[in-house]
Amino acid sequence: MGLVTCGDCGGKVSTNAAACPHCGRLPNRRKRAPSQVQHVQTQRRGGKYELAGFLMILGGMVGLCAGGGADNQVVSMLAFSVLVGGFVVFLAGRFM
Ligand SMILES: [Zn+2]
Repeated sequence: MGLVTCGDCGGKVSTNAAACPHCGRLPNRRKRAPSQVQHVQTQRRGGKYELAGFLMILGGMVGLCAGGGADNQVVSMLAFSVLVGGFVVFLAGRFM
């Protein structure tokens, strides 16, 4: 970030400005291509959600097997909720 002097009106113009705010003159320097710069190294954000969802699915399955059963519907329901929730999180991370 910095200031340059406008060649037309002599006013201070931010180097980030697309044009002079005083007279509207376009700067001499080449236009940046921020869209290109920003998207070159875009990393996937969904990776950690995928992992979290996968762990939730595993936890839900373990809960269903270990604590589930006809005699313990609360644990069974909880484990199933975690499993479904994990699946949703996993899919969300997958397509993020
Ligand atoms: Zn100007």
